[in-house]
Amino acid sequence: MNANLFNVIEKNIENIDKKFIETDQGKIYSYGDMLTLSAQYANALVSLGVKADDRIAVQVDKSPEVLFLYLACLRVGAIYLPLNTDYTLSEVTYFLKDAEPILAVCQPNQISGFENIARTTGVKHIQTMDNLRDRAAQSKILFNTVPRKPHDLAAILYTSGTTGRSKGAMLTHDNLISNARVLVDYWHFTSQDCLLHALPIYHTHGLFVATNTVLLSRSSLLFMPKFSVSELERLMAQATVMMGVPTHYHRLLASAEFNRSLAKNMRLFISGSAPLSPETHKEFFDRTGQAILERYGMTETNMNTSNPYDGERRPGTVGFPLPGIELRIADPKTARILPQGEIGVIEVKGPNVFKGYWRMPEKTATEFRADGFFITGDLGSIDKQGYVSISGRDKDLIITGGLNVYPAEIEATVDALPIVTESAVIGVPHADFGEAVVAIVVIKKGEILDEAITRQTLSQTLATFKVPKRIIVMDALPRNSMGKIQKNLLRDQYGTLFN
Ligand code: AMP
Repeated sequence: MNANLFNVIEKNIENIDKKFIETDQGKIYSYGDMLTLSAQYANALVSLGVKADDRIAVQVDKSPEVLFLYLACLRVGAIYLPLNTDYTLSEVTYFLKDAEPILAVCQPNQISGFENIARTTGVKHIQTMDNLRDRAAQSKILFNTVPRKPHDLAAILYTSGTTGRSKGAMLTHDNLISNARVLVDYWHFTSQDCLLHALPIYHTHGLFVATNTVLLSRSSLLFMPKFSVSELERLMAQATVMMGVPTHYHRLLASAEFNRSLAKNMRLFISGSAPLSPETHKEFFDRTGQAILERYGMTETNMNTSNPYDGERRPGTVGFPLPGIELRIADPKTARILPQGEIGVIEVKGPNVFKGYWRMPEKTATEFRADGFFITGDLGSIDKQGYVSISGRDKDLIITGGLNVYPAEIEATVDALPIVTESAVIGVPHADFGEAVVAIVVIKKGEILDEAITRQTLSQTLATFKVPKRIIVMDALPRNSMGKIQKNLLRDQYGTLFN
């Protein structure tokens, strides 16, 4: 049996005339076009000497062609390695040295920089998307997809590396197939769906969660080059589902034009990659009548949990473990499995979990338990009904005066203050307490925050040791492209607050 993800996608197609992608400019690619173009790109790759298991690094702007290149890599049996377009050349050097791709695809203005890197890293070919497109256009329109076994690699995605060196997560064909199948079913995708796609495609969310789910449900993508509120408002009536990060939902809500009638054709709004506050959930519901479905996943594991499609989508939680995925909470230090309700590190096991970190066997070994569970590094708990909640990253846990403070709990309390838009809670070195709780907040326009009064208000809800010792107002929180708050930058900035 050919366990290549592309083989599964191809076998699933019923009608080659069915639309696969429509761009924001109205350009349409059918499933038949997808088969032809991916074959042409696959032939172009082979003409450059690409073979099964070779890595192909891609750092280019989002376009439908890049998705055909991704699919072509699958067809050749090569390993797709997308890179965030924000990475600088010096960061790219690290990835190319580490992954040793045979081919790197870059933006036209980066070609000389990439060629310099290639000289020192042994990358054989550097191409721009335009070069590759021309080569593909002259290539045959048929290609026999290379057979793969379930555990062969389909992609390497480097983790965002907000703590320590970025690691290459090795994802297999089976990881991607199993997760996409589960999501199609759990989120009730049908061929009638059209997914509003405003996410980047170098990250698991926009690449695998969105694209593979669409491909395996024979539905279509409404493809935007980047996120834009006005464009989303223009296009939303043509779509049925949106996948976004919390920032997208904040920005939509900040637009007075975004209302119930714009969203009336939509059956599902999904949020993930960062925590969605219950306030945003509620505001969105009040504005549109739709309850955002929050789910939780990571590069290494694909999607782990989701709020239910039909049941209660509980704000502030990430729902239940997806079918076929085991999830448990353990004591981060002793590995003891904790009883229901207690906070500990989230561990997961299932066909969704990656094969390990590229060329880091020791690091990989320390991230798995002996019984095969992957230690996510996220702290969380499971309530009586089985809903999972996330309390922050293990590394973000604050220990003040010997007591544990979970940032997510404090952030939820701070966010609930009427003048606060959003917050990030960090631990800052403190001579007396070891670490002190500090809240960095963004407040509504025109408001003024009185630190002493706010601390007093918080102390009505929070135990004294949890009340932030300082509350600092910022214009905006530093976020990466997936909307994750970069707490490492805040810790650097405010590290000497109590010196
Ligand atoms: P990435 O590998 O870039 O997808 O980041 C994965 C991390 O994002 C997880 O380990 C979580 O810390 C965080 N994350 C993803 N989804 C959620 C969510 N719904 N709520 C809170 N954190 C999330």
